[in-house]
Amino acid sequence: MDFNLLPTHLLIQLMLGLVSIIFADLVRDLYHLAGHYWQPLQKFHTLHHKAYRPDLTITSLETYQKAQWYNDVPEDLFMVGTTAVLAYLSQSYGMWLGCLYSISFLIPAIARSQGFWLQTDLTHKPGALVEIPSHWRVNRTYHWRHHFDQGNAYFCSNVTLLDKVIGTSLSLKGKVVAITGASGTLGQALTEELSLQGAKVVALTTNTQAEFKPGIEVMHWQLGSETDLKNRLQGVDILILNHGVNVYGDRSFAAIQKSYEVNTFSTLKLAELFLETVTKSSHKALKELWINTSEAEVSPALSPLYELSKRTLGDLITLRRLDAPCIIRKLVLGPFKSDLNPYGVMSSKWIAWAIVALAKRDFRNIIVTVNPITYVAFPVKEILQSLYFRLCTSGKGER
Ligand SMILES: [Zn+2]
Ligand SMILES: [Zn+2]
Repeated sequence: MDFNLLPTHLLIQLMLGLVSIIFADLVRDLYHLAGHYWQPLQKFHTLHHKAYRPDLTITSLETYQKAQWYNDVPEDLFMVGTTAVLAYLSQSYGMWLGCLYSISFLIPAIARSQGFWLQTDLTHKPGALVEIPSHWRVNRTYHWRHHFDQGNAYFCSNVTLLDKVIGTSLSLKGKVVAITGASGTLGQALTEELSLQGAKVVALTTNTQAEFKPGIEVMHWQLGSETDLKNRLQGVDILILNHGVNVYGDRSFAAIQKSYEVNTFSTLKLAELFLETVTKSSHKALKELWINTSEAEVSPALSPLYELSKRTLGDLITLRRLDAPCIIRKLVLGPFKSDLNPYGVMSSKWIAWAIVALAKRDFRNIIVTVNPITYVAFPVKEILQSLYFRLCTSGKGER
């Protein structure tokens, strides 16, 4: 026997084991998806949704036990069966790990359905939501949205893969989405795209001449009077900060002041005002802040003051994101065709579509550009800077 081969063989089996666990989770999530769209399973899955109140306490023991017996047990049995067939066909013992993993869910589900071991699983633990929705592993806040935000989204139970693939990591249906810079080229394109997704758009604009389609709520605001928007922001689910100014080649002090006032501090002020509105447990799940920091964070924009002010904004958002009370997404966009930039390569309509498509797949840094360097430079910058800020600063109330 060649002992040198043993670790490699074990490693391969372990890898296959991990693959089989991810496969098991996918099978469960597909079964869950069927519970929403395939009529024979719908009435059983509805029991699961009826079993919980918004604070995740159970509505009644009887409904809870019934939901376990008619929804969770068959779901887990399906997982056990499918993973067993796959393991048998693959003829590798590592693949049985997925089957064992599935059994570890089946046994508690049977016990709960019969009135034993009644504490609920991790994603249904009762109480207020304390974390923001997780990114790769499903936490309580992530799953809470499936029950109380939108039943036809957030299908995943453990890993968030299926939602990312089918674009159900975020539902915009019925959400109140406010957007600054709404009268600009991208603002208009985003307003249209978000409306198509079923969002109720609130157009925030400093342009008193701007015209919007019927059905769009319009609010005028002024630079320096950001606090006037505070009351309206209370009822906003998603705030998109998209306003900005480009002074191009002007290097006067007035140009410096204007760039920082609009691109950095007005945006930051509105961001903070919005974050202050995250007060209830449900806000941690539903509210989101999106900020258009632009590709100028890492690449030249042939406009030094635009780059400087946008970079400062981007850096400060990276800093504030460490204590984010809700999801904060950055929009890192390349040049697009607009009145201000006739040489832009991408169309704003396409960019708006891409932003929404990536947000629905839970990208927290939404990069849309034709510049390949940004796709490498931005994540590296963001990870390293975030780490540096984490090491050298402390959270609220400390120090
Ligand atoms: Zn659930
Ligand atoms: Zn469901």
